[in-house]
Amino acid sequence: MNKVRTRIAPSPTGDPHVGTAYIALFNRCFAHQHGGEFVLRIEDTDQQRSTDKSEQDILSSLQWLGLSWDEGPGCEGNAGPYRQSERSQIYSDHIQLLLDNGSAFRCFCTSQRLDELRKQQMQDKEQPGYDGHCAGLSEQECEEKCASGEPHVIRMKIPDAGECDFEDMLRGSVSIAWSQIDMQVLIKSDGMPTYHFANVVDDHLMEISHVIRGEEWINSTPKHILLYQYFGWEAPVFCHMPLLRNPDKSKLSKRKNPTSIRYYDAMGYLPEALLNYLGMMGWTMPSGEEKFSLSEMEASFDISRVSLGGPIFDIEKLDWLNGKYIREELSDEEFAQRFAAWAFAPEKVAQIVPLLKQRVERFSDVASLGGFFIDGSLEISEESFAHKSIDSAQAMKILQFTLWKLETLDELNRVSVEEVLQALTAKFDLKIRDFLFPLFVALSGKAVSTSVIESIVILGIDITRARVRQGISVLGGISKKQGKALEKEFRNF
Ligand code: GLU
Repeated sequence: MNKVRTRIAPSPTGDPHVGTAYIALFNRCFAHQHGGEFVLRIEDTDQQRSTDKSEQDILSSLQWLGLSWDEGPGCEGNAGPYRQSERSQIYSDHIQLLLDNGSAFRCFCTSQRLDELRKQQMQDKEQPGYDGHCAGLSEQECEEKCASGEPHVIRMKIPDAGECDFEDMLRGSVSIAWSQIDMQVLIKSDGMPTYHFANVVDDHLMEISHVIRGEEWINSTPKHILLYQYFGWEAPVFCHMPLLRNPDKSKLSKRKNPTSIRYYDAMGYLPEALLNYLGMMGWTMPSGEEKFSLSEMEASFDISRVSLGGPIFDIEKLDWLNGKYIREELSDEEFAQRFAAWAFAPEKVAQIVPLLKQRVERFSDVASLGGFFIDGSLEISEESFAHKSIDSAQAMKILQFTLWKLETLDELNRVSVEEVLQALTAKFDLKIRDFLFPLFVALSGKAVSTSVIESIVILGIDITRARVRQGISVLGGISKKQGKALEKEFRNF
């Protein structure tokens, strides 16, 4: 076998997700157990949605968990650059090969034509997809259209009949009919590659031997395999891992469970316990031992022990494991040292001190005023929200709308949060004091506290989200139906 090389290829378009760490962990274990290398590649071809902040958060969260990479940003090897946005020339050269050998074609169809086509296909109860309209254009026609500046994309050709058969390391033989597969766009009209194209080119050039990724990609694999064939390259081995699930078996989502790795750090979980917990997702040690370190997992790793039943990400079980780590792995000195490093991180303390200083008379006032900055969940009840002019329904609406608005911000800072709160207060047509009341209670557990704006900035979106949710839940919760109505109202707000 060639050298084993695996990779994690996150797109920096959101929070650092526990699912990314889970897939990274299994890739790293597989590579290291075979004496191979684990690569990190940033898939940032979606220029509108990719941000530097998200990339930084993903990198630092993986590092926090101890999931370092052998090659990738900050750890250059021979296969770089490891950021797709820095590899444009490579994609242009490679798409030319496919245009030249006739396996890709320029498509000049307007979005209007594509919309109409889709509508017609829906009406005729056909599988929606591109109909090959431009596949037969002659070279000269294409040249003329290009010369006159007609915008276009480049698509791959797909066989019209038969099926794509491939072996998945966990699932055995998989067969997907070509009729299910669309003539995928490889290069967008802005010249940027799509995920599918860049991913295949890079996996080949980075000599990735095993593609271990989430099962949501299984239906894309035929396109990828076909691209390898079009280039005349050997395809890697594919392995589609089961997706993490909420306790109710639905796909793990931040609506039901905190999914951002930052949340687990902010709640004071030990990274080694969280990593161990992710290792337990669908996998067991041959010995049956539930508590294991990364190096123990790497040493005993066997991918065939991954079970395909969707692993449940259950916070109660994580709490149990984290407690076990605290008791069994940390001496009193280590506990003291790590607790202090977590609770009194200098950047955090520097933000909190000015708020407390204005309000305390003695140090002994600090814990009751500022304790909520390090508390996990607060002791609040419906009565905590009792207010002369804001009833429970109104309070829940304020909390939910504020959260939804805050979630749209790229960055939480004093200015951005203040803008959101002011705009909402005006829309709710309330006095600012009244509007802020439910937020004070949900965030700090008290009716009066340090400034809501500063508190949100310091707590961060993950803890803010968790507290707002707790507030809504003690106020009686929002049913699915009410949630839908609220979402509609929010959209037109
Ligand atoms: N960029 C893709 C993602 O965000 C990578 C998928 C893959 O591993 O092929 O999940």
